[in-house]
Amino acid sequence: MTTKKMKRSIEQLSNNAVIQEGDRAVRNEHALLISILKCLNEIEKRSLYLKEGYSSLFAFCTCRWRYSPSKAGRFIAAARCMKKFPAARMLLVDRKITVCGLAKIARLLAEGNPEEILRSVSGKTFADIEKIVTSHQIAPAMRESLRPIGLIEPAGKTSNREDKGDLFQAEDPPNHTHVGRGPQHDLQQEPEQRYEIRFSASEEFCRDLERAKMVCSGSWTLEAIMARAIRDLLEKRDPERKEARRKKREARKQSKSHVKFRSQSPGKPGTVSRAKATTETNSSGNGRQVSPVRSRHIPALLRDKVFTRDNGRCTYTSSLGIRCDSTAHLQIDHITPYCRGGEHSLENLRILCGKHNRLAAREMSLTNC
Ligand SMILES: [Zn+2]
Repeated sequence: MTTKKMKRSIEQLSNNAVIQEGDRAVRNEHALLISILKCLNEIEKRSLYLKEGYSSLFAFCTCRWRYSPSKAGRFIAAARCMKKFPAARMLLVDRKITVCGLAKIARLLAEGNPEEILRSVSGKTFADIEKIVTSHQIAPAMRESLRPIGLIEPAGKTSNREDKGDLFQAEDPPNHTHVGRGPQHDLQQEPEQRYEIRFSASEEFCRDLERAKMVCSGSWTLEAIMARAIRDLLEKRDPERKEARRKKREARKQSKSHVKFRSQSPGKPGTVSRAKATTETNSSGNGRQVSPVRSRHIPALLRDKVFTRDNGRCTYTSSLGIRCDSTAHLQIDHITPYCRGGEHSLENLRILCGKHNRLAAREMSLTNC
């Protein structure tokens, strides 16, 4: 079947059939990977890589099969595990562990209790397996360091927010948080010196960092979050900034008392008090306040309540009861759409990720609303 024909036929499948097709392809891929591991073991056992002109099985994989060094390392580790531990081979055959998962526990199997380890990783995701592996390791001592690593092109004023409809959009992250999002060219600016900062951190720190990423809708880089935290700390604790604020307050006070004095002096042109100006702006000619215009703006307090109630996670739930696990690019959605009279109320608001918000809008034909 040609690629074009296959593409067309997949496009014609129902949603369920596409998922089933993907599942079938993954099953086939898994069976193929096991075949590759078996071949690797046989190539090693017969030293065929040497006969083919390679110094090691690793060189055979990276040069003949053009695997990346990390992929070659993973496959060789998994193949050796499969050979040494029959129970690991059974897990692999039963698809209770992937090749990457098996490679991840290879060292642990050699050093610890294989039966117990294999039982603990059976059926787990790769992320879970990583946690299990690190829970068995002693963290290496790491020296804190900060060192320059070179220049990068200037990024201009691009913010790193990916979706303008993000839940917390009142403030933009600092402009220099573009790193990792591709260079932006601006001839007006000089290349920027970048630094590498390394330190190890506690579990509590990592939890707080994850929480900070979540409340920033997942679209701030680590640098942006740390920069904001450091800036806030300096704003509170730095004596120089405290002094600058004090001076600013004093200047404001003096300027206010000066304006007051002028506004109380009759007959001087151009001395309209701020209170009077506000009344004129807000009045409709008869002194009454203008009724507030309906606004899309959702008060911060209400947004925070919705965020807390929905546990900072997309609330989209499938027909089978599976709730979306996204905590990034969250948006506040009106259940009864705003353009159809929906109110800003706790009952009418929910959190959706950007993709599910767009899906909901498409389903209700609200794209131009
Ligand atoms: Zn979602």
